[in-house]
Amino acid sequence: MKKIVVQKFGGTSVADIDKIKNVAKTVIREKNNGHDIVVVVSAMGHTTDHLVKMAKDINPSPSAREMDMLLSTGECVSIALLTMAIQAQGYKAVSFNASQIGILTENVHSKARIVDISTEKLKKNLDEGNIIVVAGFQGVTEDGEITTLGRGGSDTSAVALAAALNAERCDIYTDVEGVYTTDPRVVPKASRLDTISYEEMLELAHAGANVLHPRSVETAKQYSVPLRVRSSFNLENMGTLIVGVEKMEINKPVAGVASDLSQVRIVVREIPDTPGEAATLFSYLAEENISVDMIIQSYARKTTSTNDIAFTINKEDLPKALSILEKVKEKLGAESVTTDEDIAKVSIIGAGMIDRPGIASTMFKTLADSDINIKMISTSEIKISCLIDRADAEKAVKALHKTFNLESDEVADVKGTLPDV
Ligand code: ASP
Ligand code: MG
Repeated sequence: MKKIVVQKFGGTSVADIDKIKNVAKTVIREKNNGHDIVVVVSAMGHTTDHLVKMAKDINPSPSAREMDMLLSTGECVSIALLTMAIQAQGYKAVSFNASQIGILTENVHSKARIVDISTEKLKKNLDEGNIIVVAGFQGVTEDGEITTLGRGGSDTSAVALAAALNAERCDIYTDVEGVYTTDPRVVPKASRLDTISYEEMLELAHAGANVLHPRSVETAKQYSVPLRVRSSFNLENMGTLIVGVEKMEINKPVAGVASDLSQVRIVVREIPDTPGEAATLFSYLAEENISVDMIIQSYARKTTSTNDIAFTINKEDLPKALSILEKVKEKLGAESVTTDEDIAKVSIIGAGMIDRPGIASTMFKTLADSDINIKMISTSEIKISCLIDRADAEKAVKALHKTFNLESDEVADVKGTLPDV
């Protein structure tokens, strides 16, 4: 059997008919290199956003099941059109949605995790000489219900397929030339990284770098799938390779800077200081599948027998969280629940910061010198994140990128590109 390559094309790469024809050429080129090809595509351009908007215009809180029914249609359009474009070039191709090939997920709407992928049908079709085009972002439950993997989830579909098929590699084609030290739309002198480790990429993705869906990196790491991020529009550039071992000598403590504008901060004030209160609070959120990012517990100012707990969650989960928290507030006997949406999380990431003192203080000093106030801080072994005012996000990213010497001599070419969610 030939080696399998999985190629994923994001929304901007299939935004119109000419771009779809262009993708067909890229796919055929790889097929002619002697590989078996499985292609994963997202919905065309801003299709998913438009579908979300239509749903919200009809019903401000649409049911999660119907949202999945609706959003999964975007990818179905792309797979059929791309398959036709490949066939028009004289190559054998066939498209499949998630139900047809059994991309099995857990029974959760809007952010389901993939549980299993059966490869029988895929292998049979590859053996028959077909290029296979699969709908990204969607899955199916054991009961045949349609699910989606969360916004940006096609990356995860592609990596999961690559893992299931034991593919040689997974290439993520997008509208930028690879992974940059920060968003080149904010800092034109951001540098493209040739390689980055799974760990660093995972932290970058979680910190808000939109280039890859975080769960795709997790899956690639878990199954050691070599992952490449590269441009659909410049095939000469090999982009960024995400692999297990980073170069032996790490000269820079920080590999990248990211900002995340998708979070909101919630503060629950004056919770009685007794064992189990935090456990109760966060288990209610977990039950509703709301993931929490930064958490700080501190003594409440007014009393010594109560605590304030502040934490951040994704904005999309705010309405659900607030209705839960109203109940939790009563149960815990807390004083109040307040929210702050005008925030941003800026993070610096780098395996080189392990055992290197002074990185945190340099970050805080850089923010202070730019007159930026820090509201919350969190750290991992290779990441430091600060929560700041949303209005300061760009200024912070620029200053940190400069402080940690990440600038390139060249200006990245990102003219005319759309953000690829
Ligand atoms: N079309 C979906 C979205 O816009 C999935 C993806 O593009 O990865 O989020
Ligand atoms: Mg994407």
